[in-house]
Amino acid sequence: MPAHDRIYRTEGVVLRRHDLGEADRIVTLYTQDYGKRRVIARGARKPHSRKAGHVELFTRVDVLLSAGSTLDVISQVDTLDAYLPIRQNLVLGTYAGHFVELLDAFTEDEDENRSLYHLLVEGLRWISETTNPRRTARYYELHLLDLAGYRPQLNECVLCGTLIQAEDQFYSVMDGGVVCPSCGQHYPRAQFLPLGVLKVLRYLQRSPFEAVEKLELSDTVQRECERLMYAILTHFLERRLRSADFLDRLRRELPT
Ligand SMILES: [Zn+2]
Repeated sequence: MPAHDRIYRTEGVVLRRHDLGEADRIVTLYTQDYGKRRVIARGARKPHSRKAGHVELFTRVDVLLSAGSTLDVISQVDTLDAYLPIRQNLVLGTYAGHFVELLDAFTEDEDENRSLYHLLVEGLRWISETTNPRRTARYYELHLLDLAGYRPQLNECVLCGTLIQAEDQFYSVMDGGVVCPSCGQHYPRAQFLPLGVLKVLRYLQRSPFEAVEKLELSDTVQRECERLMYAILTHFLERRLRSADFLDRLRRELPT
């Protein structure tokens, strides 16, 4: 909350919800201006609550919040975007859940990051409109890692610093990037990384989403990208115990 303000306005996306008492809800929002924040939606579980429809998961809302003694309270809420396709399609809904949980796992409470907020909002729009949710998920994951401070190094060998050439490479999840063939062949932490997969990851990392939508990918390349991204995400998330449930779900794999 801004200092001295009892009432303040922001926008945010609903990441999580918990029941509170008989009729209320605790809503975890990722807000544009204040990062991740838990707030109370009073009466949100009453049958005719005006707030109920606006505090659904993945909804982008405009909120007026008033300072409470522990958690702040939603005074007024309006939906800015409900991302309807996510609600009407189970597979897209699962991807949206993946996006939201990843963001949740990689952020701390009250840590403001407008770029991450922007990525989340864009990510939910992309997944609502995309022709290929799988490729879109990889795009979102790479950019989330970047904005959260874990950008995979795809241009230089993380061991010797050599500029990566157009040939098959290795990748070390522990070291956070590509390992060149001469370092990689004797390095136990390195896994093989075919050139085709590296090229796709580099393209996803540096391109605007609109360009990525035109990218045709074979099933094999998509599977390889997915495998590597899961290894990378798992490596970072394992350090955060509270994400254990999410990790379990990630390991059971997303629908494809
Ligand atoms: Zn090297």
